[in-house]
Amino acid sequence: MSNTHATVEGVSVDTRHWIGGQRVSSASTFTDVSPIDEQPIAEIHAGGSAEVDAAVAAARTAFPAWAALPVKERSDILRAVAGGIEARLEDLARVETRDNGSLLRSHRRGVMPRVAMNFRAFADFAEQALGHPDMDVRGHRERITYDPAGVVAIITPWNAPLMLATWRIGPALAAGNTVVVKPPEWAPLSASLLADIMADAGVPDGVFNVVQGTGVGAGAPLTAHPDINRLAFTGSVPTAGVISKAAAANIVPLSYELGGKSPLVVFEDADLDLAVDIAVEQFDNAGQVCLKAARMIVHSSLVEEFTDRVVAKAGRLRQGDPRDEATDVSALISRRHFEQICGFVERAIADGARPLLGGGPNDELGGLFYRPTVLVDARPDAEITTEEVFGPVVTIEAFDSEDEAVAKANDTRFGLAATLVTGDQDRAERVSSQLRAGTVWVNCFFVRDLNAPFGGSGRSGIGREGGVWSFDFYTDIKNSVFAPNGWANARGGES
Ligand code: NAD
Repeated sequence: MSNTHATVEGVSVDTRHWIGGQRVSSASTFTDVSPIDEQPIAEIHAGGSAEVDAAVAAARTAFPAWAALPVKERSDILRAVAGGIEARLEDLARVETRDNGSLLRSHRRGVMPRVAMNFRAFADFAEQALGHPDMDVRGHRERITYDPAGVVAIITPWNAPLMLATWRIGPALAAGNTVVVKPPEWAPLSASLLADIMADAGVPDGVFNVVQGTGVGAGAPLTAHPDINRLAFTGSVPTAGVISKAAAANIVPLSYELGGKSPLVVFEDADLDLAVDIAVEQFDNAGQVCLKAARMIVHSSLVEEFTDRVVAKAGRLRQGDPRDEATDVSALISRRHFEQICGFVERAIADGARPLLGGGPNDELGGLFYRPTVLVDARPDAEITTEEVFGPVVTIEAFDSEDEAVAKANDTRFGLAATLVTGDQDRAERVSSQLRAGTVWVNCFFVRDLNAPFGGSGRSGIGREGGVWSFDFYTDIKNSVFAPNGWANARGGES
């Protein structure tokens, strides 16, 4: 490990910031620890107000020229970024796995291809969507334009760092904005590799900037900066509350993608094989997935069989090193998070819940490995039933009627997603329309087009992104009205 680079899984990663097309150092650093073995893997430069000021200034300087580029030229550069990601897919996958502990096989086959898609899809979509036919209003010509908003601040969590960052960076850049990203301090490396890829792809200096650092050190000054025009945050509800106060003074529009406590509702007419498969998918990424269906609400006629089968199948999941292709469930991100999960389950059990699988750390593996855990008999108002756990822990409860199922599913302050399994098409339509959630999956899970709206209701977020919804957020939509005959007709009044 040098003062400027770390070698992670054989890949050299610059540990400094990326500001205005230059690598920039800070006086202090923080240690990046791998969740796989709790070993230090990099010393990351810790940014503060000075680095944030420099990055926002660089983004501001680069903004007019980037915004003025024809959409086709911008999109071509972003397609080159997508190509650069594909060319370095294996490096990105290995580094991200070492850094955040998610499965290498998921990074290779799902996450990193999606990272490239986050650029390619929005590059393509910008060419189609950032225009609107002129409208004729009583002989006046009304022109609607999508003007880029300016400098976009992007703050991201550790559970899918590059995928979640690029999901915001792709549309923000495609719409003509410049960007300052503050990656998660628990998994900061992939953002640095992305800076190299951006530079190689011809993204002009200052269009994309990275300030590394902690939430308080670098995130807080970025959210309070008076010269940012949009704030896209993905993370927890408590942090969102803090950020909202900081951003309020500058009246900055916010897009929040926050936590969840999503239900999986299994009706008596469900395909049980499918329901069990969807249930066991919830242990992916050791349950550190915002969209995870942590509350399983199952018709009383099949709750016993469903529970037995979930326990049996989840009990066969292989836990271990995420670099091993055979591993299904990896370690938790940090010692702090591991202790939080232990605390959640200990309190749940003390409160009457019964673990039918797991219920504690994996003592054979040690470290930050927590066993897939299935709890029953948790009270509806217990912490384990109502709060986001963000670990490999699910609860199962029974219902008797459709109304009860809907009431239980909606009995949460969150509203990110809901999944239902039913063989009855009328019920599928009826129940999905009653569920309060940003995304509802019927007899499927995790399927979504990037042009569809994504976001949460309730505490799960503010706003929607994806397709036109992203462009609505990252642009200032302007209406220009042209009089037909000069000034004489300019006082038309509204209609
Ligand atoms: P977190 O809120 O602790 O941190 C998220 C980011 O905010 C990090 O980069 C952190 O450094 C930064 N931050 C922390 N304090 C800050 C402050 N005062 N000012 C500015 N920035 C600050 O969340 P986490 O633990 O990293 O991530 C897990 C959470 O993210 C879960 O709640 C999960 O559900 C949520 N999440 C949501 C989605 C979604 O799409 N809805 C996706 C992934 C994760």
